[in-house]
Amino acid sequence: METRTICCKLSTMQPSYEALQETSFAFSEACNFVLKTAIEAKTYNAIKLHQICYAKVRDLFGLSANLSIRAIRRVVACMTKLKGKRKCPKVFKPKSIDYDARIFSYREQEETVSLTTTKGRIRIPLTLKGQNPTSATVINKSSVWYIHVVVEFESTRCEGNGVMGIDFGITNIVTTSTGSKIEGKSRQEFKAKKARVRASLQSRGKKGPRKVLKKISGNERRRIKHENHVISKQLVEEAKRHNCGVIRMELLKDIRSKTKTWNKHRNCMMAGWSFYQLQKFVSYKASAASIAIEYVNPAYTTQTCHRCLKLGSRDGECFNCLTCGEQHADVNASHMIALGGAACKPARISSLG
Ligand SMILES: [Zn+2]
Repeated sequence: METRTICCKLSTMQPSYEALQETSFAFSEACNFVLKTAIEAKTYNAIKLHQICYAKVRDLFGLSANLSIRAIRRVVACMTKLKGKRKCPKVFKPKSIDYDARIFSYREQEETVSLTTTKGRIRIPLTLKGQNPTSATVINKSSVWYIHVVVEFESTRCEGNGVMGIDFGITNIVTTSTGSKIEGKSRQEFKAKKARVRASLQSRGKKGPRKVLKKISGNERRRIKHENHVISKQLVEEAKRHNCGVIRMELLKDIRSKTKTWNKHRNCMMAGWSFYQLQKFVSYKASAASIAIEYVNPAYTTQTCHRCLKLGSRDGECFNCLTCGEQHADVNASHMIALGGAACKPARISSLG
């Protein structure tokens, strides 16, 4: 069994909206109360805190039994997370409510979720076809309520014994050893345009442009993130189509040094290109499809010929091997990665040759 979180917008009518609003206020107030008590009692322990706070929380904030427990757990989880940093959560805002299986239920036939609030149970329409929800968090973002539902699913094993190698780059964002490419041209143009706008705004300074700059950076980040989601989905589909049970990628620690040049514009282009994010998306989507992920040492992958494993020379998009002739540099790299990288250090290559 694996779990995944699904995010849905809740279509709430006025009464349910108010019920959620009121519950989130009570929930955050309860959390703040528990936090204060925990600091005074100097304890992180969920059971101890439960003994000290539970009755009071129920009395003071009008929360149901299970919501009170969730509030205590929320504080404990938050404190444990910050423990290593020697920090303490400051204040809980009325922005979200936690639900577990006891107070959150989904009725498949009626396509509604039922949520416990301070005003009793409310029913909200929601469609989750064939899913098995276990817990949920209800979140308020700019006055709209969203529900993040954790669902369990049975993963189907991918039996394929093929291996797919993925090469990441700028001209082609990805090149796979199974033969597909996704061009980076539109992304490059988009980033160049944003960079131009930014440069002109920065030169003007002052307050107004600063707001615009902030907006641009968010906009740019969201677009790249969205693209990365789309690309990673395509990559996993590709692996499934070619019966590949393994996806190999370069270990991207060195991507910056690999692509760093003395060209200022190109370096600008590299910043925020987010290969790391793309890799992370690929790896979690692959594991949901039961495809293994393997990382490969990137050294020499772009300089080695995948057919004869000898060092060749690269000129832009063209890779030249003295024995095998010319081929596309990214395609060659993707094949090298599928092979497990050029574990062939120069010494070994010379012994092979
Ligand atoms: Zn060759």
